[in-house]
Amino acid sequence: MRRIGIIGGGAAGIAAAITAARKDRQAHVFILEQKEKTGRKLLATGNGRCNLTNRQIDGSCIKNCYHGGNIRFADEVLKQFGYEDTIRFFASVGLVTKARGDYVYPRSGQASTVLELLNLELKRLGVKVFCGIRVRLVLWDGREFCVRAEETLPEKSDVKHRCTEPKETVKIFEADRIILACGGKAAPAFGSDGSGYELAKSFGHRMTPVVPALVQLKVKGHPFARASGVRADARVTALIDRVPAAEDTGEVQITAYGISGIPVFQISRHIALGLYRKKRAEVLLDLLPEYTEAEAFGLFERIAAGCADLTVGECLAGVFNQKLIPCILKPAGLRMQSKLSESDIRQIQGIVKQCKRICLPIQDTNGFENAQVCAGGVRTDEVNPRTMESKRVKGLYLAGELLDVDGICGGYNLQWAWATGCIAGEAASL
Ligand SMILES: Cc1cc2nc3c(=O)[nH]c(=O)nc-3n(C[C@H](O)[C@H](O)[C@H](O)COP(=O)(O)OP(=O)(O)OC[C@H]3O[C@@H](n4cnc5c(N)ncnc54)[C@H](O)[C@@H]3O)c2cc1C
Repeated sequence: MRRIGIIGGGAAGIAAAITAARKDRQAHVFILEQKEKTGRKLLATGNGRCNLTNRQIDGSCIKNCYHGGNIRFADEVLKQFGYEDTIRFFASVGLVTKARGDYVYPRSGQASTVLELLNLELKRLGVKVFCGIRVRLVLWDGREFCVRAEETLPEKSDVKHRCTEPKETVKIFEADRIILACGGKAAPAFGSDGSGYELAKSFGHRMTPVVPALVQLKVKGHPFARASGVRADARVTALIDRVPAAEDTGEVQITAYGISGIPVFQISRHIALGLYRKKRAEVLLDLLPEYTEAEAFGLFERIAAGCADLTVGECLAGVFNQKLIPCILKPAGLRMQSKLSESDIRQIQGIVKQCKRICLPIQDTNGFENAQVCAGGVRTDEVNPRTMESKRVKGLYLAGELLDVDGICGGYNLQWAWATGCIAGEAASL
């Protein structure tokens, strides 16, 4: 009987376990999870609603929606296991999904439904789930793997299967195949604390630098600090050494220390990598993304001509959130109280420029504890994309965020976890 050990009971690990147990009904499949329950992070996804995939997972979108040292690897993986496969996988555990635009969620609107159905399937298939077990070391003697783990929770009666106890808190598990699905080090409160990287490195796997991604940005001398709490439609462009690296448009949230919101998350990996490489990192903020500079100029000219009795501040109140207005006017050298009709053409140009090309120097990103994912990870050229098997150690598989592939917001990261998990699970069971 084949023994398949999965380290990490997150999205990728659970998908791997279900697939392996379905493919080989005789196999002994077990999950080792250091938290008290499986899928802690899953419950927090999509603001508790779990944006589990995206309808646009195809060749052309992969280049724009996934990043990593070798994007062809992601392409090969997602061609094998794409959107339709994910929907089929979830239908097979009884989950009904619904799409909002291209974003796909459980129809119940609850991430907890997703986890519950996955856990029920693990149980139905007889997968042994050991929670409160932190894996410290995995050894390979050329014949089998020996996993050395520690109990992180008080011993429960079911944590007895196939383990011996050399010391009170140390557990040993043996396996013919190991799937590493420990996640990265984003949001470590949910269990992904970077220990998977150490396990992969212990087998000779090399890493690309790991930085926080899908994360908020801290602005140096933040000119909008006083508008903290405001949400504004804007275009954000990441500039690395003054060269545009990525841009996105949507609702930007101003915070006391910087900027947040989905468009900021989408460009954050470029900023994080720029800062990691000691480059100059800036964000160009366009607060009038729906207008060209000439159109914006015309807009303000019309306001100036039509609202002669109003002050500059009062006129701009028709365009921007009130809290933003002093922050926009100050750098343009205009006072809130001055009459807009008195402003000369250069001052209006100043406002247009200020609104469309606000350059925010970035001091840092928020840390891993606030990031949704990591950019970087285990190098994918050392993993077979058809099986997720390590090219260094036979019988070792890697899946999920541990690898050097990260997606943008929109269900792409969970899609990556399901795809790599299912592929690894299937290959490990053959
Ligand atoms: C707040 C938040 C919201 C998100 N929302 C979305 C979303 O809506 N859509 C989307 O696509 N993506 C979303 N993501 C990203 C997505 O959740 C992750 O990319 C995905 O969960 C990664 O899956 P994984 O299985 O590789 O890793 P994880 O889900 O991190 O699971 C790894 C598991 O391994 C365990 N583990 C780690 N080391 C060890 C060890 N040494 N021993 C034993 N166990 C170990 C951990 O405890 C953890 O349970 C979100 C992330 C966060 C933080």
